[in-house]
Amino acid sequence: MPNPIPSTPLPHTLPPAANAPATLQGRVVFVGAGPGDPELLTIRARKWLEAADAVVFDALVPPPVLAVINPHAQRHPVPREPAADAPPTGPGSVFEPGEAAGRLAAQLASTGRLVVRLKGGDPSVFGRLAEELQAVRAAGIPYEIVPGVTAALAAAAVAGVPLTNRSSASSLTILTGHEALEKPTGLDFQALADMPGTLAVYMGVEQAGKWSQLLLAAGKPATTPVTIVSRCSWPDQQVAATTLGACAGELKRGGWRSPAVVIVGEAAAVPGDAAMLPLSGRIVLLSRPAGQGDDLSLAVATLGGRCLQIPTVSIEPPASFQPLDECIRAASTYDWIVFASANGVRAFLSRLRHARLDGRGLGTARLAAIGPATRRALEQGGLICDLEPATFSSEGIVEALGTSVRRGRFLLVRADRGRDVMRVSLEAQGHHVTEVAAYTSRPVAALDDTTRGTLESTAIDWITVTSSSIAEAAARLFGPHLAHWRIASISPVTSAALIACGFPPTVEASEATSASLAAAMAAWEQAHRQSVCTTNA
Ligand code: SAH
Repeated sequence: MPNPIPSTPLPHTLPPAANAPATLQGRVVFVGAGPGDPELLTIRARKWLEAADAVVFDALVPPPVLAVINPHAQRHPVPREPAADAPPTGPGSVFEPGEAAGRLAAQLASTGRLVVRLKGGDPSVFGRLAEELQAVRAAGIPYEIVPGVTAALAAAAVAGVPLTNRSSASSLTILTGHEALEKPTGLDFQALADMPGTLAVYMGVEQAGKWSQLLLAAGKPATTPVTIVSRCSWPDQQVAATTLGACAGELKRGGWRSPAVVIVGEAAAVPGDAAMLPLSGRIVLLSRPAGQGDDLSLAVATLGGRCLQIPTVSIEPPASFQPLDECIRAASTYDWIVFASANGVRAFLSRLRHARLDGRGLGTARLAAIGPATRRALEQGGLICDLEPATFSSEGIVEALGTSVRRGRFLLVRADRGRDVMRVSLEAQGHHVTEVAAYTSRPVAALDDTTRGTLESTAIDWITVTSSSIAEAAARLFGPHLAHWRIASISPVTSAALIACGFPPTVEASEATSASLAAAMAAWEQAHRQSVCTTNA
């Protein structure tokens, strides 16, 4: 949906809109943001975020989810506490974030805006939805609620445990641990302890000593399994398995960053090593250019790992398109057009279309791809790949192609820098070779503050390095960090570049593919994994 209303900044504190008439478009959509990973947003949540004119969001919603918001939308963070100079917002000057946020959302919607009220997890679970709805209803503004993945569900998924179990857990109770001290009678701990089910304790870190003691005193066994998940689905997520008797001590020992959810019950016992995927609980930094780690992140996710993408190089147009355009016009005069990367294919196809040409413009030239990802890029462009070498490297291409024609004409489509092996070897065999730069891969100059913060706060286990230029860029950008991470290299050439930078790889892929790179990390983990009791996940 387009964004029909121009955004003009509005003050955060607006007068109440009790009697403001709702316009046709104006509405408030309460959207559940899920636990933090944007992949856990619902499709409908994403749709509203992309269409919003204004978004009123909680402090708990992390930046990757905020990145989904329509860039032209107004953004209104809701403070946890009132600003020091804020006027009183309710009777007795008590700050009511729910009511204030609801009034702000209603006020914005009353001017015809599509307002998303973005709340962590699910809006209806400990989200002060009742107060906000009241404000929106009072203003006569139409509203919709879009559910989100609440913390307990996301945490159980991360820990790899069910929340109910036919034999031991017939119920799931979501409760706040925060009230244990102030309102010990607010919750019936006897009933909670007796219930044959799972408890998910939200806001329970500070008062863990209290609520766990109340459960124990009510007869819940001290050996009851407990799973703690902090910052679930965030890059620095942590998971620990403990027991009801020990969980308060575990939480008190510190190192637990909020928010955290505590799951109590037999059903939620974290399984042993055997049940875990090899990369379970591991964070893998993908250093490829933005938008290009997809096959690798899928391979890592399939083996249980989670990815953090920090590009170290960016793919940009070459200094001039003229040489590439000339080669494209002459494409049908070559025996072979050889693509050294999927980026090369994409750039080539884009210039082909720019010249108002398609596959017919390539005449009888045959097409070679250095490996499966490059072949797939050709296929996605509607072209058939005639040759993919047995070994996915320049040497592999030369071996497969060198003897296919005598004194052939080769066009090599590649980056503006890199190895000359293909050209030199083919020329040595008597072929005529034209090399053309289809793109340039530029090292990222410096990390921005947000990325630096993420690096500091994330327990990264692996970095994947998929080319020599990425090896050099990573060494420069991540420097001292690299010494603490395990390094997975995609090929012998990349490994050599890493060694030259002083960071020898921990593993090397047996062939230059994403699947093989992920498998190399998995094999290492399987050989070295000792305990799942406390894992950085
Ligand atoms: N509406 C939210 C809950 C808000 S109350 C939901 O449905 O998830 C805030 C509490 O939720 C936190 O104290 C914590 O217990 C839990 N929580 C929210 N996000 C979390 C996350 N990413 N990881 C772990 N716990 C989380």
